[in-house]
Amino acid sequence: MAGIYVHVPFCKSKCRYCDFASFPDKLCYAESYMACVYREMSFRREELKDKKFDTLYIGGGTPSVIDERYIGMLVAAARKNFNLAPDAEITIELNPGTVTAEKIAFYKKCGINRYSVGLQSAVDGQLADIGRIHTARDFADCAAMLKGENFNADVLIGLKGQTAEDVVYTVNFAAEAGASHVSMYALTPEDGTPIYTDYLNGELPDGDEVAALYDAGYKRLKELGFIRYEVSNFCKPGKGSLHNLNYWRRGEYIGFGVSASSCINNVRFTNTFDLDEYFKCILSDHLPVINSEEIDLEGQKEEFVMLAMRTAEGVSAARYKKTFGADFFADFAAPLKKTAPYLEVSERGAKIKDEYLFVQNGIIIEFLS
Ligand code: SF4
Repeated sequence: MAGIYVHVPFCKSKCRYCDFASFPDKLCYAESYMACVYREMSFRREELKDKKFDTLYIGGGTPSVIDERYIGMLVAAARKNFNLAPDAEITIELNPGTVTAEKIAFYKKCGINRYSVGLQSAVDGQLADIGRIHTARDFADCAAMLKGENFNADVLIGLKGQTAEDVVYTVNFAAEAGASHVSMYALTPEDGTPIYTDYLNGELPDGDEVAALYDAGYKRLKELGFIRYEVSNFCKPGKGSLHNLNYWRRGEYIGFGVSASSCINNVRFTNTFDLDEYFKCILSDHLPVINSEEIDLEGQKEEFVMLAMRTAEGVSAARYKKTFGADFFADFAAPLKKTAPYLEVSERGAKIKDEYLFVQNGIIIEFLS
């Protein structure tokens, strides 16, 4: 299994917590940028001709802020250049403040069959505080346009003044609107973003408070029939994101556009984060890659385990054997012993116990140290 990622780096305005490659004042370059993305795809066509891709994920930024015709041409370019399965999962990220019924109808016509909508919170004051351009009502309107479609709602925890009741209200709101998937991430205040000042001022919930918000959201999601299949991802049965599962199973992926990263044939590489630099590279027939690293066997095994430990299924010894021709229990005998209190180990492999999954980072670091 392999995936294609495309980064559309335009937004209406910059959210206060945003650390992504997104440019609120460059929408006028959208047409040229997308033309460069189609061209970048053609650069990779020959190299990837034997790979079979099962997913296409159009992320950002805000892909829904650009003219929908560019999205249509993007899906066509992906199909033209690569062996993208006819029934591939094709996801687009939507910002509720940028969606119209016409856009959704067009996306469906292009073959898009999964949507990821940035709700973040159903409390309007919290949305305004983090600089989102939409209200909870806009999300509900967007969800109504997506009626019958497979869609995710992004939820943020760790917002200023957020209570457990707010988180429960937000996941209820997402579920009632018809979301079949919820991604619930803890806000990370990155240095250089406006929200970092709130963090330095002690205005954001601390680690224990965030853990309590997570527990409240998780409990409610469970009651609503969502299954936790990765630490931050919850889905109705059969509605997990194949694109993300591919990452966690250490499948191959190719990324296009500014800041996109890739891992193909055990080489990981990243595109430039600079929009001008990206244009210059593509227009002079160069790949926009700024760094590239070959991952040795040891690194591959560690990555495999680290990523799998984030998931509810954990490390599959059979998949490990199939991938590396080696025995997981023998390769990781010492770490398994060291972190035994946090793990559930069986013949099929090892996973972090349900109650420790939210703090998996520390356990994985200890496991691999
Ligand atoms: S919509 Fe997303 S990518 Fe755009 S500024 Fe906000 S957080 Fe960043």
